[in-house]
Amino acid sequence: MKFSPAREARPPRPTLGSSSGAMSRTSPYLLSLLRVRGPAALVALCGLPVLLWANALPLADRFRDSTTTFASLAVVCSLVGVTSFALNLLLGARIGFVNELFGGLSRMYGVHQVNGRIAYVSLLAHICLIAASRATISMSDALALFLPGTGWTVGLGELAFAGMTIAIGLTLFANMNHELFVYVQRSFGIIFVAASFHVFLTPGTKAYSSLLTGYLAILTCVALAAFGYRSLFGSVLVRRHDYWVARAEALDSSVIEVTMTPKSDPLRFKPGQFVFLTFDSPAIERIFHPVDMASEGRSAVVSIRSGAVHNQFHPFSITSAPDDPNLSVAVKAVGDYTTAMRVLEKGASARVEGPYGRFSHVDVDNRRQVWIAGGIGVTPFVSMARSLKGSEHEVDLYLGTKSVEQAYFAEELSAAAQTGESLRVMVVPEDEAGFITAEYLDKHSGLSGKDIFICGPPAMIDNLRNQFHERGVPDERVHYELFSFLK
Ligand SMILES: Cc1cc2nc3c(=O)[nH]c(=O)nc-3n(C[C@H](O)[C@H](O)[C@H](O)COP(=O)(O)OP(=O)(O)OC[C@H]3O[C@@H](n4cnc5c(N)ncnc54)[C@H](O)[C@@H]3O)c2cc1C
Repeated sequence: MKFSPAREARPPRPTLGSSSGAMSRTSPYLLSLLRVRGPAALVALCGLPVLLWANALPLADRFRDSTTTFASLAVVCSLVGVTSFALNLLLGARIGFVNELFGGLSRMYGVHQVNGRIAYVSLLAHICLIAASRATISMSDALALFLPGTGWTVGLGELAFAGMTIAIGLTLFANMNHELFVYVQRSFGIIFVAASFHVFLTPGTKAYSSLLTGYLAILTCVALAAFGYRSLFGSVLVRRHDYWVARAEALDSSVIEVTMTPKSDPLRFKPGQFVFLTFDSPAIERIFHPVDMASEGRSAVVSIRSGAVHNQFHPFSITSAPDDPNLSVAVKAVGDYTTAMRVLEKGASARVEGPYGRFSHVDVDNRRQVWIAGGIGVTPFVSMARSLKGSEHEVDLYLGTKSVEQAYFAEELSAAAQTGESLRVMVVPEDEAGFITAEYLDKHSGLSGKDIFICGPPAMIDNLRNQFHERGVPDERVHYELFSFLK
């Protein structure tokens, strides 16, 4: 496919004027309300035990001097810390109604990461304030807190906090492959068990408030049930769909398209959504060795792969259309699992969990849309384009690629564009035209009154969102999908 701006750059479609362009849409006010309902629920659930604690005994007694004030503030921090820790296990379990409450999985994982930090900082403050309270009596009393002999109750709390420090440190700062990352995430469940023993063994205001004790007990059960559901018994409890690999076709030296046939009830999804996928493939299993050593320059890279290969679920956007009996994804080799997928054999089993995601052209009332794909970020748009047949949409799809050769699916998409009015496809190779900019899009498509969808590398999404913002495109008209949950 030859990139020739003249041919692709048909005059922008006539703008119907922004207001008329936008069909009836969800008011920005309601949209922001929907966006904050999840975090608002978290704040309420973390605030409730503090209210119950405050109500249990007269406050004056608990803030009469520096010792009691520090001790009371330490309890408040522990209630917020242990509650947000418990709720983070619930968020981490990827449960349907919870994802919906937060506006989809990607947003929920974003909140999960922030909430995890809040839990950690609150529990750190808890320890510091306990020490400060004791220090008002004597420094040796404060130091004794961290010395052996503090007893099981305090010891369990400190052990849990030390474990949390290591796990959060690894999560935020270690460059781990995803398998190790998943096991570090699972360790939080174990750490929470130790923390729960500390919470319930520590005498305190709970003794005066059955409501507070009841609330913490329910919260602990919900958190452990969520952890059990996802991390311990996921392979049994989490609903998944079984497929056969019908075809694994290399599109080039780094991307393959995998087509799968359902063994039983096929997955129902909206175009643009993604699934978590794993394969039971002898060929892939042969590739994965528990420990791998590879030389990189003068150093050696040791890869440790923990856990069963056939239990590693990776997220991929669906490329097939919802009415296609087969399910397909297209995968770029970026790490060990996606590289191993290049040997995937016909007949291998696949387990599919989902669908997930809110990135779909059908979820927006406005039919006049601009789609921008960066590299392998074209995948959700392939499903959307494959389901445009006979729709009233007016879509301009821009394929941002390193070079024309890497314009995945461009032939098929351009062919589809020729058969109807709904779709126009423009390939924009970086080595010929540079990066796609809002100015370029406005010139070739006209942005006013249109909804914009972007999927590609994080830098591309951030740059374009800023450019659209500067051009006065309302944020609620810009929808994006990141191929990573790590913010
Ligand atoms: C919503 C979404 C849709 C995606 N769609 C596609 C697609 O259509 N085509 C495609 O090629 N890639 C897609 N990806 C990216 C793909 O999931 C990763 O490239 C893949 O998981 C890398 O695994 P690896 O073992 O090869 O690499 P690793 O070296 O283990 O990981 C590379 C990076 O990929 C991310 N990653 C790895 N495993 C997972 C996982 N299980 N869950 C979440 N993130 C993970 C991590 O951020 C990690 O830093 C998508 C990602 C997301 C979040």
